[in-house]
Amino acid sequence: MTENPYDLVVVGSGIAGLSAAVTAAEQGARVLVVDRSTEQEAGGNTRWTAAYFRLDDVYEPDPSFVDDVVGFSDGRTPTWYVEALVERLPETMEWIQGHGVRFRRFPTYFINSARPRLQPIGGGEALLAALRPAAHDLGVEFRYSTTAEGLLSEGGSVAGLHVAGPDGPTVIPARAVLIASGGFEGDIACLTGAFGRDASTLLPIAPSVAGNRGEGIRMALEAGAARAGQWDSFHAEPVDPRSSDPEALVMVFPYGILVNRSGSRFLDEGRGTVDETYEATARAIWAQEGGTAWFVTDAQLDRVDDRERGLLTGVKPVRADSLQELAEATGLPATALADTVAAFNAATTKGEFDWRKPDGLATMHLDPPKSNWALPLGEGPFRAWPVSCAIVFTFGGLATDERARVVREDRTPIPGLYAAGECTGLYHGKYPGGTSVLRGMIFGRVAGLDAARTEAAFSTTSPVTA
Ligand SMILES: Cc1cc2nc3c(=O)[nH]c(=O)nc-3n(C[C@H](O)[C@H](O)[C@H](O)COP(=O)(O)OP(=O)(O)OC[C@H]3O[C@@H](n4cnc5c(N)ncnc54)[C@H](O)[C@@H]3O)c2cc1C
Repeated sequence: MTENPYDLVVVGSGIAGLSAAVTAAEQGARVLVVDRSTEQEAGGNTRWTAAYFRLDDVYEPDPSFVDDVVGFSDGRTPTWYVEALVERLPETMEWIQGHGVRFRRFPTYFINSARPRLQPIGGGEALLAALRPAAHDLGVEFRYSTTAEGLLSEGGSVAGLHVAGPDGPTVIPARAVLIASGGFEGDIACLTGAFGRDASTLLPIAPSVAGNRGEGIRMALEAGAARAGQWDSFHAEPVDPRSSDPEALVMVFPYGILVNRSGSRFLDEGRGTVDETYEATARAIWAQEGGTAWFVTDAQLDRVDDRERGLLTGVKPVRADSLQELAEATGLPATALADTVAAFNAATTKGEFDWRKPDGLATMHLDPPKSNWALPLGEGPFRAWPVSCAIVFTFGGLATDERARVVREDRTPIPGLYAAGECTGLYHGKYPGGTSVLRGMIFGRVAGLDAARTEAAFSTTSPVTA
């Protein structure tokens, strides 16, 4: 047996990796964290997220939590996993607050939605800023600019990690390894293979996306891990492609129309609240030619008091006094755009416009329809934002059990191997917003606790993700 200087080697220093590292070290474990990024850039997607939590209370989620999260997947996301989040929430929130993080309700960019969102003050960066010094104080070692490339196996157990660092390739023996290296959203070839279509027109939601290339997932699959989550899908958001800012969202799309490069509408822009529809809207935009569309609106947008909250892009819209001028400025075909708007306007009906909630102001005899907020377009100034689909993270990943152990197809754990966060497959269909950071923290902590217990990684089976 190789000598083990570490009880746990963690791959990745986002919320999942740091939660595990700090938790294991608090139990007395010797822990090493490796991250491919430099110390300044490490933290993955966690570093860039506002980190909304789908909670209205720090210790207890809305009663709809389990039904929503499982329901969004049409029952494919395992109930035990979501129930475990609820069960472990109070203890985990107590723990993170013990490290100085404070939570508050902030107004979100979902301007017409009532679903709860809680946020750590300072977002994901605040979570990292709390956990990194805690890890250092507990003696956790960090190796930055060090990329995990493969697992070291001994007698059927994971016994360490192959890495490539500033001094070249090396092997780090360890009693257990935790994969917390995010999804494969940064690997275009892999995305194209998984989605069955060209992924090069997807925009990264933040710079961190490029660093999550799926090596952690691949090395576990090579060691016999089973897959979980929907491998041909991902969390998508509608963004302004002109902006170089992270998360340059355009979340006001229900208050106007979306047209593709041919000047045609292609979906019901008002079929639900922004929170309910933004992801599917982004994916529908990706399906259009060039993976892009234009959001076209007029003076009606000024009736939406909180519109600025739904516009995270800092780039000004294209403005024009007439549709003809707007077509010239955007490059949209003028006649097609005029026809689309005329057909849309002819299908609008009378009623009370209320931007705060689905108002039932719907079109009649129009395909695709618009089910709410269907005011006719005609009063300048006209405004248009280009909108593209950004990828946030992939849905497909590793199957794990309730102790965060990576499992094989027969549901038995691979001894010595854990996974938490984005690299574990969970979501199907529609992403239940405000759950990714939360689950990374909770199951990172589960992994840290389990890995710190001697021999814990080497026994029995329990429920698994699929
Ligand atoms: C702009 C933005 C907004 C978001 N908004 C929300 C939100 O409001 N609420 C929410 O719940 N979620 C949100 N998310 C998603 C959420 O932030 C992530 O899913 C979550 O933080 C992932 O945590 P993680 O620890 O699994 O991975 P990450 O935080 O991505 O960390 C992965 C780490 O692994 C490292 N790494 C990758 N590969 C290797 C390798 N081979 N070797 C060594 N290191 C490696 C990376 O450098 C990185 O530091 C958002 C994401 C973004 C980018």
